Amino acid sequence: MRALVYTAPRQVELQDIARPVPVSGESEIAVVAAGICGSDISGFLGHSRRRVPPMVLGHELIGRRPGGQRVVVNPLISCLRCTACLSGAQNLCENWRLLGMDQTTGCFTEFVSIPETQIYEIPDELTDRRAVIAEPLANIVHLFRIAAPHPFFRMGIVGGGTMGSLALLTALRLGVREVLVQDVSDVRLDVVRRMGATLAANVSTEEGRAEACKFAGHGLDLVLDASGNSAARQAAFDLCRPGGLVVLLGMSQERSEIDFVTSIRKEHRVVMSFAYTPVDFERSLALLKAGEVDLTPWTVEMPLEQGQQAFDRMTTAPGATLKMLLRVN
Ligand SMILES: [Zn+2]
Ligand SMILES: [Zn+2]
Repeated sequence: MRALVYTAPRQVELQDIARPVPVSGESEIAVVAAGICGSDISGFLGHSRRRVPPMVLGHELIGRRPGGQRVVVNPLISCLRCTACLSGAQNLCENWRLLGMDQTTGCFTEFVSIPETQIYEIPDELTDRRAVIAEPLANIVHLFRIAAPHPFFRMGIVGGGTMGSLALLTALRLGVREVLVQDVSDVRLDVVRRMGATLAANVSTEEGRAEACKFAGHGLDLVLDASGNSAARQAAFDLCRPGGLVVLLGMSQERSEIDFVTSIRKEHRVVMSFAYTPVDFERSLALLKAGEVDLTPWTVEMPLEQGQQAFDRMTTAPGATLKMLLRVN
């Protein structure tokens, strides 16, 4: 079967690989379309220790069962037996694995074998472009579930990429009072402004920083770092009010320096959010089915054969593209 194999940093190529054989409890899914995630991009760039070439990346997929029924797959496979799994925190499973990571083959290929428990049938009205957001959106549903914001909260989002944008759209569904999104790209800021951000501030300029600071006032109730670089993490703390909550989601840098003394004096609460559970995934899917969250105006599709161009575009000049979809079948 055809597969887009990550062969070296910044390089993917179409190769022929063996078709997987489903083991007991698994079904074979023919991949229809697959989304490129930020984590695939970090792998592609050679920044991930858990995505080492040669391997097939990809975990966001729409496919078909052998009978033709369209499905979306929850690619985070947990053991269902450890204490974390049994307590409903499958994202903290001792033995979790993700498609397109470590030893698990990803979905930038024609067929995947998936445990039945991970497969959700979807109606035809839910297009591939809409449904492929189920996995990234599940991360956002999870973070709001564990952050549990108070009614009428004011929020800050640092980083207006795919995750920041999904957080904005979800916060608006949750009834957020006002949302600031800060980024350094005018193209992205333009997008989040159209999505409904109260203020979209370009913090690479003095003027933008002043605007964001004025908007935050004594600080925002909930601030999300959707970027993961050091400056962004510190910015999330800086925007947060005394007694407010900082949610750390972005993982681009492993370590960073934070002014802890200032945060201790402000009694900042901190939540770190990782991945999602099956409950979050199902809620995400429900939001997409209802059409309440939609990234399709910012979704671009290319054939699997043009995987190299698709990855190059997302790493060098994504512009307003928030999701890149590879068409497989
Ligand atoms: Zn993803
Ligand atoms: Zn487990």
